[in-house]
Amino acid sequence: MGQETDAIRLQIERSQYKEHSVPLYLTSSYAFDDAEDMRALFAEEKEGNIYSRYSNPNVQELLNKMSALEKSEAGWATASGMAAIFTLFGSLLSAGDHIVSCRSVFGSTHRLLTEIFPKWNITSTYVDFDQYDLYEQSIQPNTKIVFIETPSNPGLDIIDLERLAAICKKKNVLLVVDNCFATPIIQRPIEFGADVVIHSATKYIDGQGRTLGGIILSSQEIINKLEAFARHTGPSLSPFNAWILSKSLELLPLRMERHSQNALAIAQKLQGNTNVEWVKYPHLESHSQFEIAKKQMKWGGGIVSFEIKGGLENGRAFLDKLKMFSLTANLGDTRSIATHPASTTHSKLTPEQRAEVGISDGLIRLSIGLESLEDIWQDIEQALKNG
Ligand SMILES: *Cc1c(COP(=O)(O)O)cnc(C)c1O
Repeated sequence: MGQETDAIRLQIERSQYKEHSVPLYLTSSYAFDDAEDMRALFAEEKEGNIYSRYSNPNVQELLNKMSALEKSEAGWATASGMAAIFTLFGSLLSAGDHIVSCRSVFGSTHRLLTEIFPKWNITSTYVDFDQYDLYEQSIQPNTKIVFIETPSNPGLDIIDLERLAAICKKKNVLLVVDNCFATPIIQRPIEFGADVVIHSATKYIDGQGRTLGGIILSSQEIINKLEAFARHTGPSLSPFNAWILSKSLELLPLRMERHSQNALAIAQKLQGNTNVEWVKYPHLESHSQFEIAKKQMKWGGGIVSFEIKGGLENGRAFLDKLKMFSLTANLGDTRSIATHPASTTHSKLTPEQRAEVGISDGLIRLSIGLESLEDIWQDIEQALKNG
């Protein structure tokens, strides 16, 4: 089936009430027919629901759809994107193991790798996004995972999935891709050889800024390993949030197309503005990894970053002048959002440290929403004007 069909029609079975839209199964546990049914379910001799920390129909529907969209065998859902990353690493790694990661990762992922996992003697090495030889050289005998984000946040750097997957195969380590910025509508890392895909469903999967959620997609073998860990540590996604996220998926193909159309148009307009130093967007020809982005991404996605002339001061002034854009710590929403990393998420770093992860003082990250394109551009244009 096409992605649009899967996102809409992969519903769980109708109940005796023949509802057309899937109902919400708010239940913490499930009834057994008799003692034998109960025994067989616990012995895993038959499939079925026991307890909602393990499984729930709404969660299952979300996973069925996401597996179909990402072309994975199986999946697991968690309460947030970070819970997905923690559950994956926690279930596959032991003390003494090692991770190789691209340098620019989501802030909390960075904390996990540098502050939390070292407590359990799980260490990591950062590599600049396009140093393919260095990824290979950094893989040690105890390395189990290579972790990347592409496009990266907020730098929008692109990593060649096919090339890195070949290196990981050769070295027998798992390639894990945080596919949050692209979603499976735009990019399917498993088709390029990745072993695991992670999502913060909080972003485009929900798409309307309502819930948190996380999803892990991989082979049945890896999901089985992960299940044993997740069942007993309890990072479960709530049925209510799963229901919202599954409903959201019905419009994901349409939303991603419009997000990308709007973002490309804004990126092109920004390129011609005299108060803008440079613009970065995966599907702009001026992007230094444009060819790779074209190969692995159907569209360019909804995030645009640009450098405003005048550094830190003008970056802050730009945010203050915006009238419609939201200033908020989220992305992938129907509403357009602007952030200025140097004065917010990365303000504790020195300018040199910021430069290392590709964050200059005038860098603005825009999450382009689904409002009228003319209104989005008008707001940006008036905020860019001096004085
Ligand atoms: C937001 C985000 C996360 C974390 O997801 P939460 O749902 O906030 O826990 C991880 N990776 C990327 C790229 C993100 O943008």
